[in-house]
Parts: sequence; structure tokens; C-alpha cells
Amino acid sequence: MSVSINLSCPVCGNKDLKTRTSQKVGLLAAQTVAYCPSCFSIMNITGAIEKTKTAVWTERPEIHRINKPLKQVDPNQLDFISELEEPPQN
Ligand SMILES: [Zn+2]
Repeated sequence: MSVSINLSCPVCGNKDLKTRTSQKVGLLAAQTVAYCPSCFSIMNITGAIEKTKTAVWTERPEIHRINKPLKQVDPNQLDFISELEEPPQN
């Protein structure tokens, strides 16, 4: 199976390069030999992970108090809803 690579062929400009072989050269890097199915050129490509970010997940209990998708609610309106539901302070 050959996988498409989102790079253009430097010889003919074909936008559908294919992977011929791919191997790991370290924890964060890989070397690939790719070919162009249009002009049959062969290219060596090196790829490395340069920057990684992880997601931060936030609990959103307010989705139970609104009747439309969260992204469609005005953020100022959400503050108003949570103020109404806070327990009274003594
Ligand atoms: Zn080509």
C-alpha cells in the first residue's frame, strides 16, 4: 500500500506523491522514500516532530441548562446563568 504525501513533485508539479518506503530514524524522526506516479521521480524526505501540544479538557456542566449548542450561546449569557444558580451566601 502506498500512502499519499501532501507535497508537490519538484520535477513535474504533480500534487500526489506516494510513499515507497518509510522508516523510523529516532523517537521523533522518520525518513521516507517517495515517488511521483506521474514522472516516476524518486525523492528522499525527512520528517521530524518539532513541537507538540497536549489538550486541556474542561468540564462544562452548563450544557444541561441551555437549549442549544454551547458554541451558539453568548459567553456573557453563560455567566448570567451560573450566577442565578449559585447557592445563597450567609
Ligand atoms: Zn513528477
